[in-house]
Amino acid sequence: MSSSAKPEKRTWSYKTTIMREFGLTRAQIEKAIDEGLVRVQEVPNPHRKYGIAFLINREDVEKHLEEIKAFPKLTEEERELRKIYAERKRLRDKLETTCPICGQRVRALRDSEIFEEAFMGNVDLEAARRILLIAHVRHAHTGYERQIRRIRRLNVPYNVKLMMYEKAKRKFNRKAIKLLKKAKTDSPTAQVQGMKALEVHRLSNIKFKEKNISLKRFNGISVSGSKEKKMS
Ligand SMILES: [Zn+2]
Repeated sequence: MSSSAKPEKRTWSYKTTIMREFGLTRAQIEKAIDEGLVRVQEVPNPHRKYGIAFLINREDVEKHLEEIKAFPKLTEEERELRKIYAERKRLRDKLETTCPICGQRVRALRDSEIFEEAFMGNVDLEAARRILLIAHVRHAHTGYERQIRRIRRLNVPYNVKLMMYEKAKRKFNRKAIKLLKKAKTDSPTAQVQGMKALEVHRLSNIKFKEKNISLKRFNGISVSGSKEKKMS
């Protein structure tokens, strides 16, 4: 086959074509451009009226292929994002606890406020774990949800309802704390679990900005890490 017929034709290719053909990632080809290893041309995007596309010199890519392939596959931002996801998963695992009443695993839900606070380092792990456990007990083992449904059906203004929801939360949080205390003294396994949770907490290397933040806004649950430790 003679390649001399149209030598111009395959000299430049679109960036996406280069990526596909040479098995390169966007991060790798962009680093190659930044470092001046490959020549690049801006051209009008054939698919979008006002967009631009990039043509990459194929010979440059071929010449530096080994070097380009050794570049990181992900950009700084992509790696940062992955790190954050992994960190959030680790924190969720660390916050997991077992309910001493039903033996169910208690994890922070996706929209959990206390999880976000713990992630920001505004609240320590033990306090966050306790708040999550109290919330689980309130929902699963008290009449809280029934009460909420009852309030929802009432024919009163919304702000009155909000106040009633808050009041119910406080009331059933107190109940939940009582139930947990009872379960703790009743079951020896719960105590073992409590010790384990404490150990995980000690081993955790997450840095906290403020250790003893006031948790008043978490619906009247007062949490004091040092008291907890002495009690158990
Ligand atoms: Zn439970």
